Amino acid sequence: MPAGLYLHYPFCPYLCNYCDYFKSLYNKSDEQTLFDSLITETRLVAEEFPNTKIETIFIGGGTPSLAKIDLLENWLKTVRESFDIADDIEFSIECNPDSVSQEYLAALKDLGVTRPNFGIQTFDPDLLKQIGRGHTPHQIQEAIYFANVLGFKSYGVDLLFGLPRQTSAMLKKDLSQLVDLAPPHISFYQLTSEEGTQLYAEVSSGKVVLPDDSLVSAMYKIGCDKFLSAGYEHYEIASFAKEGQECRHSLNYWQGEDVVGLGPSAHSYLNGHRLANVESISKYIESLKQKKMPRILNEPALLDRADETIISSLRLRNGVDCKKFESMFGLPLKDRIDSKEYEKLMEAGLLLDDKGRLRLSDEGYYLADEIALRLLK
Ligand code: SF4
Repeated sequence: MPAGLYLHYPFCPYLCNYCDYFKSLYNKSDEQTLFDSLITETRLVAEEFPNTKIETIFIGGGTPSLAKIDLLENWLKTVRESFDIADDIEFSIECNPDSVSQEYLAALKDLGVTRPNFGIQTFDPDLLKQIGRGHTPHQIQEAIYFANVLGFKSYGVDLLFGLPRQTSAMLKKDLSQLVDLAPPHISFYQLTSEEGTQLYAEVSSGKVVLPDDSLVSAMYKIGCDKFLSAGYEHYEIASFAKEGQECRHSLNYWQGEDVVGLGPSAHSYLNGHRLANVESISKYIESLKQKKMPRILNEPALLDRADETIISSLRLRNGVDCKKFESMFGLPLKDRIDSKEYEKLMEAGLLLDDKGRLRLSDEGYYLADEIALRLLK
């Protein structure tokens, strides 16, 4: 069974005020123990799902570019021994501009990494400080320079919009600087204030003001126009790629393929089951010391996954491949959608049946999430 492999590396050098991912401040001895546990988990999952063929690897976090090269190398050895690995594997790793030197990126390349992804967020030094990022605009330029010098054919950057007190003019400055660097892939996300974060408390108390909805929509449009005019393909709502530079790991996931998730808090979808690991580094390590999977969830989820695939595929320019959907989930796509809403959306020209693919028209594309919710039964 083809699958992507996702590793959640939970350590960060600092904690950004908007972040609601599972993470913890870096600690050298915890990192060593975590990798020991990860090796055990990798072996156990490979035994449990023996016919899994890994087509892509994505290391996210946290800040995976803090990971010691020898620890990563050891773990990758176990991955290669435990799983069948595709010859043309895409191997991505998230990198913070302040934690990558040219030597570090070169070492990642030697380990087989094909696609570093830099979380740059903004070039504005004041905004970087305000959201708690530890890097400088100069470090962004340096990181991308290193990726080019080392000959990475693929790499990506993440840019945020809708930052505190950000104006359209400030965003335009970010976009120009980014497009001048011409990264092969861009993810363009809105900053949101998630409950439980420091930013959420600051926004709630009025200490921090985020741009209002109409400004945020205008910013998204400004970004899309800029990337399109710079030759990027808008292949997913928040993702832009030069020709052939789409992130295969994300594309496969959005289209419903299996994923092996490793590390604390990681989620998997394998053989029709959803699995989730405990959100605690100490409990994760303790469980694996006893050779027990650190799971808090293991349940059948075929239909849930089918619905998620409809939602995420409608965010793709190419929409849902109806035949592929049927072969993956064992039921026709139309069984999962509301026929009346389907007809209405077709008549309104928002939804198209395009040679076996159900996709959104140009007008419907920017309403993808809303339309998906209307469509699902
Ligand atoms: S945004 Fe990234 S670097 Fe910042 S705390 Fe979250 S995971 Fe860590």
